[in-house]
Amino acid sequence: MPKHALDVTETVEMLKAVAHAIIAAEPELTDADRNLGDGDHGIGMERGMSAVLEKVSAAEIDTISKAFTTVGMAMMSSMGGASGALFGTMFRSGGKAIENCAILDSACLAELLVAGNEGVMARGGAKPGDKTMIDALAPAAIKAKESIAMPLHEALSDVAVAAEDGRNSSKQLVATMGRAKTLGEKSIGFPDAGACSVAIILRAMADFVA
Ligand code: ADP
Ligand code: MG
Repeated sequence: MPKHALDVTETVEMLKAVAHAIIAAEPELTDADRNLGDGDHGIGMERGMSAVLEKVSAAEIDTISKAFTTVGMAMMSSMGGASGALFGTMFRSGGKAIENCAILDSACLAELLVAGNEGVMARGGAKPGDKTMIDALAPAAIKAKESIAMPLHEALSDVAVAAEDGRNSSKQLVATMGRAKTLGEKSIGFPDAGACSVAIILRAMADFVA
């Protein structure tokens, strides 16, 4: 049955599915970061999501907000590096913005992604077009805002496609942030590793509610 909204227990289950999807994608994320960076993104995300699986099973999670902030804290404290802080911020800033949400519906999804995107932009200083995770996250947040009248499964389906389109479009961009910056024009032709992770996270969320 497609889901129109998720309660707290279902949200935690969805976040576990996200963690498993990232862990399974480690080789793909490693390859992406090998092309443009130092090749550690897949291992870092795998470590972060393994910590997430431990934390969400052990923690007392009684709100949607806490489900997302727990994921962010687990990533921040286990990963290190640029993406530990940035992906941790995405989940923490997003989670903090939905303290008033009793269920995860399309309106809360939009608040989560808009705040997550703003948090990462404030923390890392990247803008759309810099060839970072923002190139998948920003279009996903915009699509979520346009989809608040839809049931969650339809909104998340469109949001996942927006993130995947953003990841694919990042291939054509010249990197101006992070390690890939030193490659300049040579970065053209490869997708950004962080954008790949954002697309995988949102696709796993869409698949869970489909
Ligand atoms: P590191 O760069 O420390 O090796 P990772 O390889 O785990 O960290 O993550 C690299 C990803 O982090 C990049 O693909 C990009 O998406 C993201 N990233 C790096 N710097 C920034 C930034 N300033 N703002 C947003 N995202 C960034
Ligand atoms: Mg790296």
